[in-house]
Amino acid sequence: MKYVYLDNNATTQLAPEVLEVMLPYLGEEYGNPSGRYALGVQARRAVAHAREQVAGLLGAEPDEIVFTSGGTESDNAAIYSALQNRPQGRLVATRVEHSAVLSNVLEHERRGGAVSWLEVDGAGRMNPDDAAREFSPDTALISIMYANNETGTIFPIRRLAELAAERGIHLLCDAVQAVGKVAIDLKEIPLTYLALSGHKLHGPKGVGALYVRRKTPFAPFLMGGGQENGRRSGTENVPGIVGLGKACELAHLQFHDMDRLARLRDRLERGILELAPDTLINGDVENRLPGTCNVAFRQIKSDELLLLLNRVGIMAGAGSACSSGSHEASHVLRAMGVPDSHIYGAVRFSLSRYNDESDVDCVLRELPPVLKQLRRGAQSGVSF
Ligand code: PLP
Repeated sequence: MKYVYLDNNATTQLAPEVLEVMLPYLGEEYGNPSGRYALGVQARRAVAHAREQVAGLLGAEPDEIVFTSGGTESDNAAIYSALQNRPQGRLVATRVEHSAVLSNVLEHERRGGAVSWLEVDGAGRMNPDDAAREFSPDTALISIMYANNETGTIFPIRRLAELAAERGIHLLCDAVQAVGKVAIDLKEIPLTYLALSGHKLHGPKGVGALYVRRKTPFAPFLMGGGQENGRRSGTENVPGIVGLGKACELAHLQFHDMDRLARLRDRLERGILELAPDTLINGDVENRLPGTCNVAFRQIKSDELLLLLNRVGIMAGAGSACSSGSHEASHVLRAMGVPDSHIYGAVRFSLSRYNDESDVDCVLRELPPVLKQLRRGAQSGVSF
């Protein structure tokens, strides 16, 4: 059955070019990069090349890139390191961070650590000068994502990083959703750590990277054989790292496609609003990721809607991937003050370079009967 995949903020299709460069490292090129013999040297060179490709996409230096098992580990490693260097320090974070950050901040708070939360407005935005009032001298780390995974809202990271740097405070930017979709030049943004993940940009799952600015004292989260210059032990995931490198190189060449994605997204959104004018658009429509569309249908349960869409071959997400399957409202939409009448009906359509007009046509064709069916159900007694 042909299907329409519109959950690219959850994960993306592996680019065929990425698969191609990975295959040898899943086959005959199986050397351990620490080996001094030919197979080891080849693997080491491949990892070094990937490090240059990742650094190239970010305007970073290769020695500032630490390969990890993904976005979650990158976030954890940065927070761990910052707190090791300053155990009594305060954590400052937005209320809309991904759970990979949020759980660490909540755990710090539970243990009696100092925490300041940064609020967002109804569109999920933050004023950097207001936020900076919370950057107190006892801060170990400020954590602000580049773009929100649920709504796509982009934060003013450059300004926030400047304000943090002026105060000599480290800033972690979870850029898992932004890398490959918006151009990031770390020569221009004085942040300390940046997290990214392979599977969000058509690379493989289970691999990511943490950018660590030169001269930052770093306490490793994983200790052992001393790989990654002592910053992340464990034999390198060579095929994954090679794939991540290629995905970054491809993303660099594909930025021009982002305008097309934004147009597709806008057409989808306009179409949905025509079908259901009482729908809310969640996020900053002026400044968000090009392919992300988060809409909240009135008096509809998103899991029921997604189930019906799935039956006709359309796959989309409800809130974040990690919280889907639970019936709790998204913490992001709660922080934005989305009303109860709509919050349970939030659906995220997220597009990638592999989507086209026919996918948008399909959603706009299939949605009316699905909404009709759900509204009939609601009239027969479902409460919100
Ligand atoms: N941070 C953000 C903003 C994300 O969207 C995700 C994945 O959904 C992660 C972190 C976790 O990344 P990974 O799946 O590579 O662990």
